[in-house]
Amino acid sequence: MKVPFLNLRAHVDSLREPINAAIQSVLDATAFAGGPFVEKFEKEFATYCGGTYAAGVGNGTDALWLALLALGIGPGDEVITVPHTFIATAEAISLTGAKPVFVDITESTYTMDPALIEAAITPRTRAIMPVHLYGQPADMDPILAIARKHGLRVIEDACQAHGAQYRHRPAGSLADASGFSFYPGKNLGAFGEAGAVVSNHEDVIAKIKVLRDHGQPRKYVHSVVGWNARMDGIQGAVLSVKLAHLDAANDARRRHAARYAQLLGNVPALILPTEAAYARHIYHVYAVRCPQRDRVLQHMAERGVSCGIHYPVPLHLQEAYANLGLRQGTYPVSERCASEVLSLPMFPELTDAQILYVAEQLRAVLA
Ligand SMILES: *Cc1c(COP(=O)(O)O)cnc(C)c1O
Repeated sequence: MKVPFLNLRAHVDSLREPINAAIQSVLDATAFAGGPFVEKFEKEFATYCGGTYAAGVGNGTDALWLALLALGIGPGDEVITVPHTFIATAEAISLTGAKPVFVDITESTYTMDPALIEAAITPRTRAIMPVHLYGQPADMDPILAIARKHGLRVIEDACQAHGAQYRHRPAGSLADASGFSFYPGKNLGAFGEAGAVVSNHEDVIAKIKVLRDHGQPRKYVHSVVGWNARMDGIQGAVLSVKLAHLDAANDARRRHAARYAQLLGNVPALILPTEAAYARHIYHVYAVRCPQRDRVLQHMAERGVSCGIHYPVPLHLQEAYANLGLRQGTYPVSERCASEVLSLPMFPELTDAQILYVAEQLRAVLA
């Protein structure tokens, strides 16, 4: 049997008719860049996330970058985040001219360890950007309390957390602003690149709508130097169709995660993901940990199972951030996780036969 890591085709096939109809309406309206389909999706997604306002942008990196800019982050500032994440988290900070300052993660959730934040705060610290990694929210209440105490902004990197919840509140509604990615492989994926910022602050979203469109509040009136970070009309229309199916897709992922846990729970060499008591985890990634991870990945591939690694090198050890001068050993939990995490196939259309096969092969490889 072959089990792909991801099967976008299966998801598209199940929604082909409504998506074709949505794309036709964009063609009929020739509303290709921004426009009514993006505006409609912005309203729907803001409501879904429990936020009041949303701005559609070009991708998730744009979303995080523009959220930071709109909150006034810039050169000379420091933003606290984690090294165990996709590089876009730190890139967004760097692109504003600010410096990413890392704190380690907790081993049980793979998200920012609130106990380490205060030691990383300096007079230059302006914001904290926790990452809801793999689809599980970071422990937001203590993070928000520290931010309030020190007068810092909080931006959620919610690029992997569409539909996740923290104490029954949706990811995206928990902080000053949040960035989402609709990269095709995300739980809510577009037909190309797209992203959004969600916020309860009307002025933040208003600023982003100016920044994403060459700094123009009105046509040919440029109040600031902006950028072109608009969302395509077709992406807005496709995302509106897919948003209506997101909860069902996330529920399917949660069922698959429970099934993996049932089948793999008693394998001593494996550490399975856990759902924090505060969380509704939406399993964008189902990451287990095991010794000799690279060998296991290779053997799984030989048995027809495609696995992934999210992520093999923590950001402080990437060449791009060599200038921060952070050595191996600085963030031990992130470093250990980077060397042990293995992402098993996870997508809504995964069948029970496939899950059984993946679990069987993994047991065999580890035996
Ligand atoms: C995908 C992702 C991003 C960036 O989103 P793009 O749409 O690819 O620009 C940022 N942070 C995290 C954690 C992500 O997974």
